[in-house]
Amino acid sequence: MPGNFYSVECPDCENEQVVFGKASSEVACAVCGTTLARPTGGEADIEGDVLETVETR
Ligand SMILES: [Zn+2]
Repeated sequence: MPGNFYSVECPDCENEQVVFGKASSEVACAVCGTTLARPTGGEADIEGDVLETVETR
């Protein structure tokens, strides 16, 4: 299964960043460094607001 990408808004600086739904390492905001996603072994735990789900095909 390919997994999805999510468009996530950083809770601290409102930067919008695309995060892989099954990220295997922590994803930090490119602007302020806040953690946006934490790996869980499956679907990552998204910390910010998910604005959009980008489905892969
Ligand atoms: Zn940020």
